[in-house]
Amino acid sequence: MSTDFLTHIESVLNEIRADGLWKTERLIDSPQAGQITVGGATKINLCANNYLGLADNPALIAAARKVMDERGYGMASVRFICGTQDLHRVLEQRIADYLGCDDSILFAACFDANGAVFEPLLGAEDAVISDALNHASIIDGIRLCKAKRYRYANGDLADLEAQLKTARADGARHILIATDGVFSMDGVLAPLDGVRALADRYDALLMVDDCHATGFMGPQGRGTPAHFGVKADIMTGTLGKALGGALGGYIAGPQAVIDLLRQRARPYLFSNALPPAVVAAGIAAIDIAEKADDLRARLFENTRYWRAGLEAAGFDLLAGEHPIVPVMLYDARVAQAMAARLFELGVFVSGFFFPVVPKGRARIRTQMNASLTRENLDFALAAFTTAGRELGIVK
Ligand SMILES: *Cc1c(COP(=O)(O)O)cnc(C)c1O
Repeated sequence: MSTDFLTHIESVLNEIRADGLWKTERLIDSPQAGQITVGGATKINLCANNYLGLADNPALIAAARKVMDERGYGMASVRFICGTQDLHRVLEQRIADYLGCDDSILFAACFDANGAVFEPLLGAEDAVISDALNHASIIDGIRLCKAKRYRYANGDLADLEAQLKTARADGARHILIATDGVFSMDGVLAPLDGVRALADRYDALLMVDDCHATGFMGPQGRGTPAHFGVKADIMTGTLGKALGGALGGYIAGPQAVIDLLRQRARPYLFSNALPPAVVAAGIAAIDIAEKADDLRARLFENTRYWRAGLEAAGFDLLAGEHPIVPVMLYDARVAQAMAARLFELGVFVSGFFFPVVPKGRARIRTQMNASLTRENLDFALAAFTTAGRELGIVK
């Protein structure tokens, strides 16, 4: 390998370090939960996407173990060759029923689902209108399709309408609006009632990526569209967050759409099938989530308590109702220092900074889940107050 090339890579790495943007990974030696251990030391974990606390749920572990014994470890095939067990179809139908769609199609991750969804459905004659804060995987997925691209300011219905008018004036055949149900860096919901109304007025399709909502937002946890009492035409989502937290993504929608994706979606055709244990636990996770009004009540009670506690301590929060509660610190180095100090104090959080949020908008993104106790939250509030005072963030 040319030393010139490696020297160049080293200089990029040094720039990342010099900008205070270096990310390090701390090694957890317990299951994922509200309370975890790192190097044997207990930490309260406030940054997992484990909204319902199912990541270490005994029923999911038992379902995965049983099916691993009965059906083996891996499929060693893509779905269409010899990678489809009956369980895969059971999960696909279960997801579709839960979300109120005809059918769904599984992927290794929602990143792949979003990479898959646009290209087979939209051609050069079509338009895709995307929220400016959409997840990286939607942005990448849109790049892979030939449709004309339009972008609207985050959650801005007036701008969305302007883009719809432009796309219509440009002669678009079909228009697809793509949005996250919940914007994960801010914990803010897309205004799906207004988006749906505009989609209907301009005869556009609505695609919602509901990764940070399925399982706990809306009645029975059916997601952000259900929360607003509207329907998305196409949904994408993950098993890697509230629904057990392992891995797996999906697209749900009308039968014809799912049928075409099964024929044409590249991450489906050219990537391995999900392992049986993950599929079985995914089915069990939806069974639990659908009935989990108790877990959802605890999740949102924790969210209210945590938000009120941080506000009382003087922290600058982004407003919202979602279990994502971002503590704004603006400067990447301050966010890093705060996260490091909180870790010493027994609270596991992560500083978020460029490139996952814009420069100058660094933050600690805290997330509530149903397995956190009142004692855990009081402990974490005391730690935030101590660290915040030491760093001059609060009085
Ligand atoms: C987490 C997330 C993804 C990726 O999901 P994976 O299954 O982890 O690949 C996609 N979109 C959004 C909005 C997400 O929050």
